[in-house]
Amino acid sequence: MEQIRITFCSEIKHSAEDLMKCAALLLCVVLSLDSASSVSYYSYVKHVPLKPLSLSAFTLCMRISVDPRVVDAEGRETILFAYRTKDFDELTVWQEKGQLSFYMSSGTGAFFPLKPLFTFRTNLCLTWESSSGLATFWVDGRRSMLQEYRKKHRVQPGGVVILGQDPDTFYGDFDAKQSFVGEISDVNMWDFVLTERQIRAFNEKGWSEPIPNVLRWSEMEGEVNGEVLVVPESNL
Ligand code: CA
Ligand code: CA
Repeated sequence: MEQIRITFCSEIKHSAEDLMKCAALLLCVVLSLDSASSVSYYSYVKHVPLKPLSLSAFTLCMRISVDPRVVDAEGRETILFAYRTKDFDELTVWQEKGQLSFYMSSGTGAFFPLKPLFTFRTNLCLTWESSSGLATFWVDGRRSMLQEYRKKHRVQPGGVVILGQDPDTFYGDFDAKQSFVGEISDVNMWDFVLTERQIRAFNEKGWSEPIPNVLRWSEMEGEVNGEVLVVPESNL
């Protein structure tokens, strides 16, 4: 039977208000399943960004580990990050078809042939810049080959960030085979492209600059749905 859990600060709580209190304690969100053969359909965390995502450039960083027994299953696509506006999957990041990928405003994505994420934590960043369209993934501080994607595009405001699921409407219409199964923490976003030195600094827990100005993990205000385990960072 599908079972996923929500825990805040070592106690079971379910309101967004509680998550906000705990978020100040730098929590790590863990989305997990008791059974590797189960799939998660309804469990996700919703965040409202610090400022509207009207972006001509961004850096998105997070720490991720996945349960390979689930996400490596054939025919599966695993959502790593979703920003959904009324009409579009404005920005989504995936592990699919043995690659990492991202999409802006639905349509065709940009695919990067990188090693699949696994049970140990990976420091993952994605950068994109509109005037050149250049995009790249950074995996534990190493940069992938650049790709040109959606030159002159602009990420549109008015959406919400969903961790754990890929909405196909605003917001809902989830697909169990696209759910995230693993751990996510330190989701941060800037409205510019960080330098190599700054991205490498993200790998260190003590990083502080530049302060994320679009999504800031330490101040995330969220709404948890379904059963998601939220673990204080001090317990990890
Ligand atoms: Ca979907
Ligand atoms: Ca979608």
